[in-house]
Amino acid sequence: MVDDEVIRGRIKTLMPKARDDLAAMVAYKSVHDAAQFPPSECEGMVDWLLGTFRELGFADVRAYETPDGSKAVCGERKGPEGAPTVLLYFHHDVQPPLDDSAWNTPVWELTEVDGRWYGRGAADCKGNIVTHLTALRALGDDLPVTVKIVGEGSEEQGTGGLEAFVPTHADLLRADAILVCDAGNFAVGVPAVTSTLRGLANVVVSVDTMAGPMHSGMFGGAAPDALAALIHMLSTLRDEQGNTTVHGLDATQTWPGADYPPDQFREDASVLAGVHLLGNGRVADMVWARPAVTVLGIDVPPVVGSSAAIQPHARARINLRVPPGMNARRAQDALIAHLAQAAPWGAKVSIEREADGEPFSGSTSGAAYDTLTDAMQQAYARKALVEGQGGSIPLCNVFQDTFPDAEIMLIGVEEPRCLIHAPNESVDPSEIEHMALVEALFLRNYARNRR
Ligand SMILES: [Zn+2]
Repeated sequence: MVDDEVIRGRIKTLMPKARDDLAAMVAYKSVHDAAQFPPSECEGMVDWLLGTFRELGFADVRAYETPDGSKAVCGERKGPEGAPTVLLYFHHDVQPPLDDSAWNTPVWELTEVDGRWYGRGAADCKGNIVTHLTALRALGDDLPVTVKIVGEGSEEQGTGGLEAFVPTHADLLRADAILVCDAGNFAVGVPAVTSTLRGLANVVVSVDTMAGPMHSGMFGGAAPDALAALIHMLSTLRDEQGNTTVHGLDATQTWPGADYPPDQFREDASVLAGVHLLGNGRVADMVWARPAVTVLGIDVPPVVGSSAAIQPHARARINLRVPPGMNARRAQDALIAHLAQAAPWGAKVSIEREADGEPFSGSTSGAAYDTLTDAMQQAYARKALVEGQGGSIPLCNVFQDTFPDAEIMLIGVEEPRCLIHAPNESVDPSEIEHMALVEALFLRNYARNRR
């Protein structure tokens, strides 16, 4: 078995190769949306992956078309007889650049500035692909586990191709441990496992009060203003401190893992000086452990072009984040009942359900979890934190439902400074180096620890 320091040294030597690989991948504009970029970009990316994983000993690696037309890259490298299986997840599509002019470096050309590597997908998720490649290269033939890979082709589109594919290809992907590498550390140099994801429940609420718009001079004062009714209803979803106040939903949970220092949160969320953070809990409680309501959109007349009229109709889309331990469907029911009850003046209210998705809790104990956190401790020389994530990854629930005995853990190189999904996305190469070491140590030690 290769020694830790040998692996560490090999990874250091492999970093120029990692940079070349990342540059090659970033050059593919693999946005899975034919309206924005030609499909040949995604196809090129898939071919690159097939070739690269084949070279790494994944003889049977193939691209499988999923129901939304995207391609999942799946393959296997067999370990010794009876060895446990680890499934490595990544996605090979990326977000569109958004505002091209907001980028300080070329979007599709990996560029180093002040020690960070910039480009779309440099972190999310091509940085994680490079981590897999570097870890596997460092181990060479010394691989005591069976490794499977699954690369999703439409993660950023939310069209659910791989979610539909997994249950019907369970044998292809079955594993004892699943590393979902589309997350990140708490900060550069501060390792963390993401143990939970919030679920979500969206609704659209419509309010009707009159047959048509009425003059605010002639009728204002007595006419039931639908927009005012909606504003009143929405204002009941929070108290003055900003705590969520949906009837029947607990909003007092506390986060048992890492703390999220308010100063760091202010910086990560770019909160303006003098503006308060919401809620009576710690930041970690508010963003990882408690429900949160956000009004995503309201149909109202825009300021430009608005006239002196009372609105007969108003509509809003509301997003509820559902913390671990809460049922998303029941939370949606509670939100609907709350809004109906909060409607003033006998206003006619109709509420439409939209997407809902359950929260997720990954492994926080077990051989894989222990092996992973030990590897983090070794690679970073500090104890791994346990953090949550406020958003959802529905695929994690699909993995859990399909492979109920697997230990599922979220890790990766996407720390807050990466600005994933925004212009000027970047990755810290030291995170690729450290996380490759974490992954290599995990793959080397897991077989032994599982016995
Ligand atoms: Zn991602």
